[in-house]
Amino acid sequence: MTAGTRTRTVPFARCHIVAEAHEAVERVLASGWLTTGPQTMAFEDEFAGRLAAREAVAVSSCTAAIELALRALRLPPGAPVFTPTLTFCGAVHAIVHSGLQPVLLDTDERTLTVDPATVAAAAGQVRPQAMIVQHMAGYPVGVAALADAAGLPAGRVVEDAAHGLGAMIGGRAVGADSAAACFSFYATKNLPIGEGGAITTTDAGLAGVLREMRQHGMSRDAWRRYGPGASWRYDVAVDGIKANFTDLQAAIGRAQLPHLPAWQRRRAEVAARYDRALATVPGVVLPPRPAGGGHAWHLYPVRITAPYPLSRDALAAALSSRGVGTSVHFIPVHHFSYFRALLGAQMCRQLPVADRVARQLLSLPMHPGLTDSDIDYVCDQIADLARTGGDPCA
Ligand SMILES: *Cc1c(COP(=O)(O)O)cnc(C)c1O
Repeated sequence: MTAGTRTRTVPFARCHIVAEAHEAVERVLASGWLTTGPQTMAFEDEFAGRLAAREAVAVSSCTAAIELALRALRLPPGAPVFTPTLTFCGAVHAIVHSGLQPVLLDTDERTLTVDPATVAAAAGQVRPQAMIVQHMAGYPVGVAALADAAGLPAGRVVEDAAHGLGAMIGGRAVGADSAAACFSFYATKNLPIGEGGAITTTDAGLAGVLREMRQHGMSRDAWRRYGPGASWRYDVAVDGIKANFTDLQAAIGRAQLPHLPAWQRRRAEVAARYDRALATVPGVVLPPRPAGGGHAWHLYPVRITAPYPLSRDALAAALSSRGVGTSVHFIPVHHFSYFRALLGAQMCRQLPVADRVARQLLSLPMHPGLTDSDIDYVCDQIADLARTGGDPCA
């Protein structure tokens, strides 16, 4: 086999739904109750239990989870909210939809997250009223140091844990001790359901408010109005949105959840195998690893730097032609025309590290279904392109 010959296809991500989920969905369909109901309540208990969190509130997406958590803070309109610029655009839309003002923070090159010094410097210019902390790629971020740096109590931090499911910090799961940690069950995330999200919180009162807010602010959801012995009456005492979770999603999630530990172990093995093979390729910077372990390995983002002979874009194209899917996490928020217009050129000029690393970042295939030979194939292509620069005659 010559290295330049396409010999296999390694997709960037693959959504695996276990066989038990198919049967569970059939049972829910046959039950006649499809929307938020007993399956959702059971999923919330089981999800919270797995993280050792006090409460979990299941919602329609992580984006909705962030919006609900921000709205529940009851901040004045236009209040500044810190967020990394190297994040998913949906998290910043959630700030805007909550009537609040995003303030973008530059990237810490060592962790690809945000460091306390950057937060403290930004807080010296604009005092934030809340902050979003994002566990980029699955790297667990310590919330307390960032909250301190921002001058905020921990209760004003909303964690975007879309990548954080399975990450550990201080011997506890990310989300276990959070005021509000937001998870995603999107098709490519570590616990795929297809769509869905959840908020874990240590505050039972907040969980109750979020359960109303996810369903138009109604004091009783449909299960409690139409269920056994229920009354049709309800009040709307809080602002709400339509962001409930369905029993169909819950049935899939309950079937998937017991497999999460094995999937997480496989993700860690994949990362370790990539690390060993790529450590010797000049110019390939490996993903940061937290000192205490506990990475969730949602993504495996390398950086392509000199002396690697190809740019990130050229490498992505060359890998694609050899059957290897890659992606970029993320295009910084301030590179999008909507956010540039919203936030102004001034803010967008102050993010030089994000501007630089955004040209270097490349996420390699990462999912529990990867075989060792898939990983070796990806690494062989990257090493081969490093030697030849992609020149087939080299
Ligand atoms: C996927 C993702 C989200 C959004 O999750 P949805 O469930 O699709 O709304 C938010 N933040 C980050 C960092 C993500 O990767």
